[in-house]
Amino acid sequence: MTSSPFPVPAKAYIEATRANPELAAIAVALFAKHSASLLVRPPKTAITRSDAGRCGAQVAAEIAGEYDIPDSGFESRDKGSLLGLWRACFLKVAIETRHPDWYCLLEVERDYNGIVGHSDLTAYERARNLAWWTWETKSVEKFDVIAPHLPVLSKKDGRVLHEPNLRYITQTGLGALAEGSPGFSVSVFGIGGAYAQGDYITAEWEQAVEDEYARVARGEMDPTMDYQCKSCRVGRCPKNRNENRPAYWDALDVEVPDEDLVLLA
Ligand code: SF4
Repeated sequence: MTSSPFPVPAKAYIEATRANPELAAIAVALFAKHSASLLVRPPKTAITRSDAGRCGAQVAAEIAGEYDIPDSGFESRDKGSLLGLWRACFLKVAIETRHPDWYCLLEVERDYNGIVGHSDLTAYERARNLAWWTWETKSVEKFDVIAPHLPVLSKKDGRVLHEPNLRYITQTGLGALAEGSPGFSVSVFGIGGAYAQGDYITAEWEQAVEDEYARVARGEMDPTMDYQCKSCRVGRCPKNRNENRPAYWDALDVEVPDEDLVLLA
């Protein structure tokens, strides 16, 4: 058995590829090869890997074709997919040049218990063709960059500002289970070079993965994620707070005082 280098420090590996023009050119060519397929999304017909963390009622409405608010997620969805692939291409080149006994596949579709998804990258041992390490990257803009199993704390008084982002772990964990990888990592990138990486043993998260997708299938909301109601496209749901919901403003029936109208003007 080949001795494993995983988990590797993903950001340092990515930056090393970026700093080497020859290696960077290979990574860019990989990105060009894979990127078009990411932007073609067939209609949703079942729960998929990326549904971890989502409101189950919202997922069910999407599958049933019952969205009644127009899509405004073009920018964020595509940006997340393309950034994930971009970083994975640089990481693949770094791993395969430093550790020739290992190879990496990008965005391979795998199924676990009927739930299909793609991992940004999975590394395999060449000699036995065995999956060993699955990796995903996420980008955050609004919260501190922190490993997904940790809560975001207030710098002022230590209060919990945001619960751990376990959806990142359960999404990537499902990918690891589908691949048969014994370990996986989630790299979180933020603004200004902020970075955190969480490294996990797949078997330790198997139950959490199964519980999370069972919650989605039951149509339930994760109570720590109710901010989704602000961008949800299910206008008929009474909890919907999407400002694009057609009946939303009418239903409020609020009288705006004259002085506020002056301020708004
Ligand atoms: S409005 Fe909120 S509770 Fe209702 S379906 Fe959307 S995300 Fe779920």
